[in-house]
Amino acid sequence: MPQPKSTAELRALDAAHHLHPFSDMKALNAEGSRIITRADGVWLTDSEGNRILDGMSGLWCVNVGYGREEIVDAVAAQMRELPYYNTFFKTTHQPAIELSAKLAELTPPQFNRVFFTGSGSESNDTVIRLVRRYFDIREKPQKKVIISRRNAYHGSTVGAASLGGMAPMHEQGGLPIPDIVHIAQPYWWGEARQGETMEEFGIRTARALESVIDAMGEDRIAAFIAEPIQGAGGVIIPPITYWPEIARICRERDILFVSDEVICGFGRTGQWFGCETYHTHPDILVMAKGITSGYMPLGGVMVADKVAEVLMEGGDFNHGYTYSGHPAACAAALANLAIMQREKLVERVAENVGPYLKARWSALAEHPLVGEAPMVGLVGALELTPDKVGRTSFPDVGKVGTLARDFSFANNLVMRAVRDRLIIAPPLVISHGECDELIARARR
Ligand code: PLP
Repeated sequence: MPQPKSTAELRALDAAHHLHPFSDMKALNAEGSRIITRADGVWLTDSEGNRILDGMSGLWCVNVGYGREEIVDAVAAQMRELPYYNTFFKTTHQPAIELSAKLAELTPPQFNRVFFTGSGSESNDTVIRLVRRYFDIREKPQKKVIISRRNAYHGSTVGAASLGGMAPMHEQGGLPIPDIVHIAQPYWWGEARQGETMEEFGIRTARALESVIDAMGEDRIAAFIAEPIQGAGGVIIPPITYWPEIARICRERDILFVSDEVICGFGRTGQWFGCETYHTHPDILVMAKGITSGYMPLGGVMVADKVAEVLMEGGDFNHGYTYSGHPAACAAALANLAIMQREKLVERVAENVGPYLKARWSALAEHPLVGEAPMVGLVGALELTPDKVGRTSFPDVGKVGTLARDFSFANNLVMRAVRDRLIIAPPLVISHGECDELIARARR
C-alpha cells in the first residue's frame, strides 16, 4: 500500500502525471480530482472523509458491493499458489477451467464455451475477429459487415470503439474502421415521431436492421451486435416490441446475433443475462464487469455450440491476450459468482429490491422537469426536459444533465449523465433504506 499523503499533495501529483480516461484534462487539472480512498457495501469514502452513495456500482460493475473479504481472500490464495500462467499453446490452470464450467452452467443452454479476455473492449475486439473467422471457415469470406447501433458503447479499443456508435469517439482517431454499419437505437423519448406509439416505434426501429440487410445483401452481413439495454448510450430501455422483431430478423437471416452483456450480465436486469429478460437467443454473448464485480479485470466471449463447432473445425484461431484467463482474475470471478448464487442476488433484484426501487424511481417522473423515469432490474434513467408533453430538449443539450450530475456528486450521490439523462445502476446488494436515501438525493 502506498504511504498516505495529503489530499492537496495527491491532487498535485495527479494533475502533473496522470492522464485520465474520458475526462476534460484541462478542466480536471484546474478543479482537481476527487480521491476515493475506501469503500464498503454501496458506500465510497473520499480523502476528505465524505461518504458517497455509489449509485453507479463504480462503472456498472461492483454488483456484489464493496468490501467482500471472500473475493480478496480467494485472489490472495490464488496469487500465492500460482500468480500467473497463460492459457496459450495447450496449457491451462484450475481457475480458468472451473470458471469456464461455471459460465457454461450460468448462461443460456446454447453456450458451453468461453474465450477469456481482460476487459469488455478486448472481448468486443475478439468478437470482430471471431465472427469473420467463423464465416471464413464456412467459406463465406465476403460476410464481413457487422451492424451495430448509434450511441452504442462497446469499448475503447480501435475495434470496439468502431463497433460502438458514439459520435464523439468517432471524431477522434479516424474511426470507425471499415465494414461496420450503425442503425438507429430504440430511444423512444428522443426519436419517436409525433403520434407514434411506443410499440410502433419499437417495430419501426427494429426493422432498420432488416432494411440494412436488404440494402447491403445478406451475403455481406456477418453479425448484429447490441446491448439488451443500451447503457452508456443513456440506459435506453427498448419498447416491448423491439427485441422480438430483432430476434425474428436474426433468425430468418444467416447472421450471428451478438448480445453485449458487459453491463446487463450478472444480474443487472433481474435475470443472469439481459438476453433472458428479453427472450432473445444470441449466438455470441460478451461479458466483463459483473463477472468479477470489478475486483479484478476480466472479460469473456461465449459462443453458442453452433459457432464453437465451426471454430473448432477451422483449427488455429490466431488471437489471444497475455491475460486471457488470468488465474487471479478467474479466482475473483469464481468467488464473486459464489456470493451471487449463495445470496440469491439475481432473484433479489427480480423480486425484492428491483421492484422496491422501481416504484420509488418511477414516482420521480411526477417532477415537472422529468420526462420519463424507466427502470428494469437495477438500471434506470431520468430524462430531464423543459417540456414533458412536447418531449423537447433543453437548448444546450447535455448542459443541464452535466450540472445535475455534478450537483449530485457534490451532494454525495454518484449518478451518470448522458445528454440530459441521468442514470443509476447501484450495487445489487443495496438495502431498502439505501434505496430511500438514493431517491431522496436524486430528487434533491
Ligand atoms: N460493452 C459495454 C456494453 C460496456 O458498457 C462497456 C464499458 O462500459 C464495454 C463494452 C467496454 O468494457 P471495458 O471498459 O471493460 O473495456
